[in-house]
Order: sequence, then structure tokens, then C-alpha cells
Amino acid sequence: MIAKLRDWKRAAGLDILREQYSYERGDSTGYTSARKIPERWVATTCGYCSVGCGIEIGVKEGRAVSSRPLAAHPVNRGKLCPKGLSEHYILEAESRALYPLFRRNGKQVRISWDEALGMMAERFRATQAKYGARSLGVISTGQLVTEEFYTLGKLVQLGLGTNNFDGNTTLCMSSAVSGYKMSFGSDGPPGAYEDIEKADVVLLIGANIADNHPILCQYLDSNPHQTVIVADPRVTKTAMLADLHLPLKPRSDLALAHGIAHILIRYSLINRAYIDAHTTGFDDFARFVEAYTPERVSQLTGLSEELLYKTAFLYGRARAAFIGWTMGVNHSTQGSATVSALCNLSLLTGNIGRAGASPFSITGQCNAMGTREAGFTSSLPGYRKFDQTADRAELASIWGVAEDRMPAARGLAYPDIIEAVLGRSIRALWIIATNPLVSFPNQDVLRQALSNLDFLVVQDGFHPTPTTELATLVLPAAIWGEKEGTYTNSERRVSKVNKAVDPPAEARPDFDIFLALAEKLGCRDELFPGWLTPEDAFNEWRRVSAGRLCDYSGISYESLAADGPTQWPRAEGAAAAARLYADGKFATPDGRAKFIATHWEPFPEQPTREYPLVLNTGRTVEHWHTRTKTREVPILEHLSPRAWLEMNPRDATQQGLRSHDRVDVVSRRGRVSGVELRLTEIVAPGQIFMPFHFSETNVNEVTQSAFDPISREPNYKQCAVRVERTGATQ
Ligand code: SF4
Repeated sequence: MIAKLRDWKRAAGLDILREQYSYERGDSTGYTSARKIPERWVATTCGYCSVGCGIEIGVKEGRAVSSRPLAAHPVNRGKLCPKGLSEHYILEAESRALYPLFRRNGKQVRISWDEALGMMAERFRATQAKYGARSLGVISTGQLVTEEFYTLGKLVQLGLGTNNFDGNTTLCMSSAVSGYKMSFGSDGPPGAYEDIEKADVVLLIGANIADNHPILCQYLDSNPHQTVIVADPRVTKTAMLADLHLPLKPRSDLALAHGIAHILIRYSLINRAYIDAHTTGFDDFARFVEAYTPERVSQLTGLSEELLYKTAFLYGRARAAFIGWTMGVNHSTQGSATVSALCNLSLLTGNIGRAGASPFSITGQCNAMGTREAGFTSSLPGYRKFDQTADRAELASIWGVAEDRMPAARGLAYPDIIEAVLGRSIRALWIIATNPLVSFPNQDVLRQALSNLDFLVVQDGFHPTPTTELATLVLPAAIWGEKEGTYTNSERRVSKVNKAVDPPAEARPDFDIFLALAEKLGCRDELFPGWLTPEDAFNEWRRVSAGRLCDYSGISYESLAADGPTQWPRAEGAAAAARLYADGKFATPDGRAKFIATHWEPFPEQPTREYPLVLNTGRTVEHWHTRTKTREVPILEHLSPRAWLEMNPRDATQQGLRSHDRVDVVSRRGRVSGVELRLTEIVAPGQIFMPFHFSETNVNEVTQSAFDPISREPNYKQCAVRVERTGATQ
């Protein structure tokens, strides 16, 4: 309506865009658009990715009008990527969720918060009374601040009494968690960003940081003497930055890691003193990798033996070597095993716990790490283990609750929650700040599952999204810039998140929603005694984490304000530790890291005559996940308004396809129609690539329900498809 009025005024010459185009000089901005000169700047942390850049939001007359880098933040060193530079736009988005909505006679109608929360408590309790406590499932996110996630974990596990609780973090980095646990006895990235610049060899595997974690590229730039090796089936922007690109076959990374280990051992490029002092299982592992000869690994990976030797020699002879990975490794049915295989390389060479030397998972979401540490999903808070009596007892005693209320086993992981919804053992579902109807693999199965629910609550900052549109109840939440808390980034650095503006209409911070629901459930005083603000949650979390690997006890809101962001572990009165395992002591019962030996297997869905191409999915720098936020940022949306499909010209020629043709991508599960074709040598013949951000042309219509057996992370990266000209089969 407002837009129509504006258009009419413009057409009638009543609006000459004077406000939009006037320029002024600001103290901190120089000459710029007058409407972007703020009255004040609010320091906070970027709410997109796990790099965790410091950012300032410019505020004018109660509205966010600009963003700029927070100069004092140690991570981004005065820079931001395009998403960070335009982040304030999301606060003004037209698609914000404004009021609680309830589906009545097929329509979502506005109701009060009191009605919404009362109904939610009553329907959850009624479902659980009828079908059992575990008939309620909860799917959360790495987008919440740590304080909210910690509060939610207590509310779900102790207040609602269900352990069927997981997050969208399982869709991106649960394999890193599982791999670390298998190798080192605990989750926790061992290194720091400064290791990227201090290493003399950096090996990036399945990590396109130039698109997905752009600010990390400056750590590569700052050391001209290092050698950068990038292993990726595509010639990504990151591969273009590399000294050596390893264009390996899809999902042959595990074989590559074992092949490097084989050469390191054969040529004595290992650190025997480190292995003897700090690890177990070396002799068995050495026998295991005998089978991964350069000849065989060359066949499995498609890389020449010369490239394999060159990579292994560079890595093995490095004074300090860093291995980084992201979703290219994690999005796999062998993700956990591959993470452990990369950790094996660090252990073999003693490249861990020293400056420049680390295996390092580069995480996805802004606070995926906070959810891993403070969460109550794959671990108990503080990296405690569900199956350890002492861990449960310790936590129960800190909280003053009976020990038998603590779950003794992890509940269902995200894909298994969906499976249980499909099988009707889960009847009610609460989805918080995530959009599975774009992001979950094999959308047809998901749609069938969600249509089986008796009650679906979706709590989100945006509406409509494909997921909120299906909800029985929509709860409008405040987003980044409208609430307070902390995020922890990939290098374990805790940064403050601050409120710059009020949430729109009746949207409320997730923290307030959780406490208000606890009130309705009658457990607020017991679980959250006297809590009013996120700082109350943070202070309890400091006590819960004290003495653990992820010790936050020496970090407070005051210290973050006075000293800036800091890494954990930081015990009360101690300095922060830049690296884990510097003393060679690991979180295993005997204090030693383990060599893990898992054989490489082909990916689950191999190409056939009918589906001859291997589809790879991924991201682009302009967009964030399901595009709920970034499609609302004009500059980002203009730069990348629609999905595309990358195909090698040789494959296109065989099919008579040309650049910019519209094509359909078809798998055994579904079809994505009308995708713009781009012909490029970036992808090898037999492979195609498509970004996953776009709900209008959703690549997850064709991806498969195949999951890592340990981490339960989906194998998004490879499935067998064919490409047809759009309309060819109609
Ligand atoms: S690199 Fe990540 S954290 Fe930094 S500005 Fe970009 S999206 Fe934000």
C-alpha cells in the first residue's frame, strides 16, 4: 500500500526523491547519502556467518540506517563482506513477522501473545499426555544468541521433558562435532584464525571461503610466503587464490586424506615423538593406510600421483601446517570419518596446539559454536556427555534438580525427528528460526512429514516464509540488531551482540518468548529463578561451563565491554587460550588423541544412464542460507536475483544446450524447473553445480535422504541427476 502510494506520488511529480538523493557530510562518514548518516553507532557482532566480524549499526530516529566495520574488533580488522556492509537493511524488511498468528478455518489470523502462549503450552501438554513426552519435537538453530539457546535447552529438556531436540546445525557441522569427538574426545576447534596466517602451508578441503567466509581471505593475503593448497572438485573463487588446486573427484576427500597419510608415513615425514607422547592407535593406523597407495588414491581421487606426492611433501615438510574445511567435507555420509582423517594428518605431523598448526572446522552460522557448547542437543551443556553418570549428576547439582530428570541419552537428531513426524510418533513440532521448507534435503518427504502434524509452531523473525506459511501457530521474534546476548565464532571467540533498535510491532526477543512459555508451563521459577535479562542466563552458563574445556567462567558482560571479544577457554582470573591441546593432553579418558581408521566408500547415489550427472550444491557470497534475510537487501538481491546451474560446455554440447537456456534438474525424487544455465569450465564434465538459497527454484527438491550414520548430517553434495531443457518433456 505504502509502496503504491509512493509510486503514484512519483508518477505525479509530487515526490522527486529529494530525501533519497540528498548528500551531507557526516563526522565519521564524510560525504554520503544524508539518510545514511546516523545519530549514533551501536557496536555489535555480525549475525550471518561464523567468522564473527565486529560491526556497528548506525541508528537515526530509532531506525537502522547504516552498517560499518567495528574497527577495534580483532577478527575483521576493519573490513566487512557485502552481507555485513548491508546488514542493517534486514531490520527494515517488509517481510518481518509482526504479530502472533493462529490458523483458524485454514487462514492464519492475528491473536494476542497471551492466547498464543497459553494455547502452545496447553496443546504441547495435551499431545504429550496422549502420546507420551517424546511426541513433542523441537528444531532450533545456530542463529540464536548463546543465552537463548542455553535457556531453550533447559526449557525443552527439563520443562517440556522431551529430548527430541536438535538444531539446523546438524545440517551443516555435526560431522565436525562427531569427528572431533572421535579423534580428540571432545568437540572444540583446536586452532585460531591467526593460525591461517602463521602457517607456512594451508590446506583447505571443501572450503570455498572466498564465497562463504570472505573475511578469512585476508588472513591468507597477509602472508605472502605461505603455500595455499585448495582441494575442491570445482574451480571455486578460493581455488583461484591457491598456489595449488587439487580438482579431486566428488567425495573422494577421505581417500585423499588417507593417501597423504600413506606418503607421510612411507617417507618418514611424521613426528614420531609427538605420536608416541600424545596419541594411541598409530601402529594399526599405519597398517590401515598401507592400502591407500598413491596409485590407488590417484584412481579414487582423479588426481595425478605427482600432485599427491607434492601435496603430502608440502604438508609433511611444513614447519607449521593448517588444515581448514567446511561443508565440502561435512555434507557427506562419510563426513565424520573424513573429519577424523584430517585430524589424523595433524596428529601424524604434530601440527596441533602450536602457532600456525591446527586442524580447523570453519563453522557455518553466526552462533553455531555457542549452540554446540551451551546446548542440550548432541551434548549436555559444557560438552558433558549424556551417558556419563558423573556429568549428569554434576549438572543436576548445579541446577538443583533431581538427577533422574536429566536425560541419559541423546534424543532424535534432526533427520530422525522428521522421520518420526512422518511415522506419527512425533505429533507436535516447534521450529525456531529456521526454514526447513527450503533447507532440508528431499523436500517431498519433508512436506509429507509436516502435513502429518497435529500442531506446528514456527517462531521466526520473518513471515511469510515457506515454513511459517504451513504453521498452525506463528510466533514473531526479534532478530539481530533488536536483542542482546553473545555469539561465539569458529575460533571460539565470544563477542557481544547488542540491541540497536526496537523490534517491529509485537515481535519479541526469543529469550522473552522462552521465559513467557516457561511461565505458562509453570516451570519458570524452578528453572529460571529471578531471570529477567539474557545476562542472567549468561551468568548461570559461566558457572555451568566452569572447569570444562569450554570454560566461560572468566568472561562476563563487563569484561566483554571493557576488553572486547575473547576466546574460550577462559577460567576466572586466567588469560584466554588461543589454542586447545597446546599441552598435548586431549579430552579422552587416557588424555591421548586417537587415530581413526575408516575406509573410503563411494557416495551413495552413483550416476546412471538415466541420471548421468553428479549434482553439487553450495553458496554464493551475496546470499545467506534460505535467503529469508538477504532477499530483503536490495543490493544483494540485485547482484544475485535467481538461482543458476553451472555445467561444463562439453556436457552442454552433447545435449544441444546453450548458456542462459532455461533447464530443469531432475532426480529420482523430484524436479527443479526453469533454472538459468551457465556454461563454465569451473565445473568438470559429468558434474553440475547449483546454489541452495532459492526457494523459487529449490535444489532440495532433488537432493536425497542420505545421512552420515554418526553425525546424521545430510549428504547434500552429491546426487545423480539429469538436465533437460525446460518444457522438453511436457
Ligand atoms: S564474513 Fe561473515 S561475519 Fe564477516 S561480515 Fe561477512 S557474513 Fe558477516
